Amino acid sequence: MIKSKKDFERISSEEKDMTTPRGLHESLPRGIIIRTEVRGTGVTQKPVKTRERTKGKKMKSNEIYKIFGTDYTAMTREILERAELAELIGDRDKKIGIKPNLVSPTPPMMGATTHPEVVAGIIEYLQAHGFNNITMMESCYCGGDTMECFEVCGYDRFVEKYGVPFVDAQKSTYTHIETAGLKLKIADCAKNVDFMIGVPVMKGHCQTRITCAIKNMKGMVPADEKRRFHTLGLHEPIGRLLTVVRQDFVVVDHICGDLDFEEGGNPVTCNCVMAGIDPVLIDSYVCKLLRYDVSEVPYIGIAEKLGCGSTNIEGASIIKLGRNGEPDAPAPDENLKLTRKTVDLRDALEEVDSCSACYGTLVPVLERLKEEGLLEELLEKIPDHVIHIGQGFQGKTGHVGVGNCTALFEVSAPGCPPSEEDMYDTLVAYMKTKS
Ligand code: SF4
Repeated sequence: MIKSKKDFERISSEEKDMTTPRGLHESLPRGIIIRTEVRGTGVTQKPVKTRERTKGKKMKSNEIYKIFGTDYTAMTREILERAELAELIGDRDKKIGIKPNLVSPTPPMMGATTHPEVVAGIIEYLQAHGFNNITMMESCYCGGDTMECFEVCGYDRFVEKYGVPFVDAQKSTYTHIETAGLKLKIADCAKNVDFMIGVPVMKGHCQTRITCAIKNMKGMVPADEKRRFHTLGLHEPIGRLLTVVRQDFVVVDHICGDLDFEEGGNPVTCNCVMAGIDPVLIDSYVCKLLRYDVSEVPYIGIAEKLGCGSTNIEGASIIKLGRNGEPDAPAPDENLKLTRKTVDLRDALEEVDSCSACYGTLVPVLERLKEEGLLEELLEKIPDHVIHIGQGFQGKTGHVGVGNCTALFEVSAPGCPPSEEDMYDTLVAYMKTKS
């Protein structure tokens, strides 16, 4: 079962080649099993006849469009035509930024990263409408190699195919910008665009519950600033992001995001692309889909208070544009099945200001220990029954921790962040010494 980057690396390159994203979730190669929730096909809502409804009308900020199918590039082009994105952008000479989510070097089928077909659809649409000043930009998790993510996710071919450059925002120059009482360090590549299209994956998040439009822009801050975000309470700086990084339009990859964990491993196939103008409204809608109250994700409310959009999901218009090229085809049932497994694992942790990279690495380690029946035994053997993680433990002592921030603990998995193997080996070795 593919559950992590390591699992993906273990499969042969031949098998990887067979995992072409288009229609992937309908025809998996033999020997590759992806744990997915089976989507229902029942009709729950009357289909919306959107051709008449949207023709000649630019998208409004309270609207969210959704389209279903397996030709992700065609679906994306279609949704942008319906939204009349070209009219929303205006001047053909504008510098357009495209910001996908390439958080980790894992293929999109694992539920963490943006499908390249969606970005291909955006580029094809823009070029067909006379926009040629386009740049893709992103930076991955702290300690990672963005260009590795770029290649593993299949974006490298776009540079030649479409003549669209990619900027590694980790290597961009940065500017400090003051916003609502905080100074944030922002990549100049993001500052220098006239129109930014965010292309997040709709996912669950082990620390913030959901991640989609707003948090996707965290890729436009450097690694040291990403770490500092966690010491600032995470929600406070994320809620301010849209005041310093523009996001004029959002295309959401809702194809197979992991609805529980931002680094993927349990993709839930939905085969949907969504689009909207208001990132705050989109994140509020994601809360609704994932059955969270917006108040449980504080950065959304902070962004609304700063004038970056609206959480008024009751006043939103969700418009479904059909399925597999059939505008009148009914949309599938969207009663998403959620596991909330990362929430269960939180009891095993004492976390203070941990970076996503560290926390996100520990979650699959805890899952593995749980699956192997070792987690309970480990926690029983730790005197305070928790594993410590986060910048809040720098310079402090304790029993068991992961990451260099817990270097003074009795036992600590080294690294910033440590690898999955180092975390696992350190925790298992500790357990054995206490036998
Ligand atoms: S060791 Fe500390 S600073 Fe490094 S990634 Fe982990 S929490 Fe962040």
